[in-house]
Amino acid sequence: MPEGHTIHRLALDYRRFSGGAVRVTSPQGKFSDAAALIDGAPLTRTEAHGKHLFLGFRDSDWVHIHLGLFGKVAFGGAPAPPATDTVRLRLANPTVYVDLRGPTTCALITDDEKNAVHARLGPDPLRDDADPDAAYRRISRSRTTIAALLMDQKVIAGVGNVYRAEVLFRHGIDPYRAGRDITPAEWDAVWTDLVELMHEGVRNNRIDTVRPEHTPEAMGRPPRVDDHGGEVYVYRRATLPCHLCGTGIRTADLAARNLFWCPTCQKR
Ligand SMILES: [Zn+2]
Repeated sequence: MPEGHTIHRLALDYRRFSGGAVRVTSPQGKFSDAAALIDGAPLTRTEAHGKHLFLGFRDSDWVHIHLGLFGKVAFGGAPAPPATDTVRLRLANPTVYVDLRGPTTCALITDDEKNAVHARLGPDPLRDDADPDAAYRRISRSRTTIAALLMDQKVIAGVGNVYRAEVLFRHGIDPYRAGRDITPAEWDAVWTDLVELMHEGVRNNRIDTVRPEHTPEAMGRPPRVDDHGGEVYVYRRATLPCHLCGTGIRTADLAARNLFWCPTCQKR
């Protein structure tokens, strides 16, 4: 499942359609009726909140997209090739087109319905309007582990499996600590770090979390080889030595996803 930085990046990429009529179609058919209602309308704004993407047409029409596990977005230059019947939503203008395939959600919604989506999501470190205290109010009352809370989109939106593992490592926090044992100062530090790391993720379109002194160049170690991108401390490094202390990185199932941590560096 993509993490929030990918969705915010898509919100920026979809802005290539701003400022002119957009052809909106659903070659697969499942979104045809809604597509017909906005076909030819201008794309006026785009927005992301956590893993939810919103494409605004005219004044108050929104296409709400959630990629889920299998959703894919592909951009290309005009002329668009004939669409295959797996394309749920195609946007096209004279210079560019984009195909959406396999999303969990692709629906035309109103402002009110969009507000309801925002209301059930926690603050998103990538949004300027995010209130980190709203997340801390839930965390500080919870007996659930901080590792599970960071994956709960109602608590904090957009953090996925990579950022949760990495941010806990960067702050030396034991992933099994209860939310209520996280101090306000720790939460401030974690939130500030997530804001920085995730903005960097949007800029670079990949997740890098190692500090300058722990890059392959700085440490004289080979770069990480992994389909999932950048340089990290613990994510998918089970049994490999910790970059800081050499202890084998551990893994376990937590909140239905694999958790990774260093049992030596993350004792607090
Ligand atoms: Zn370590």
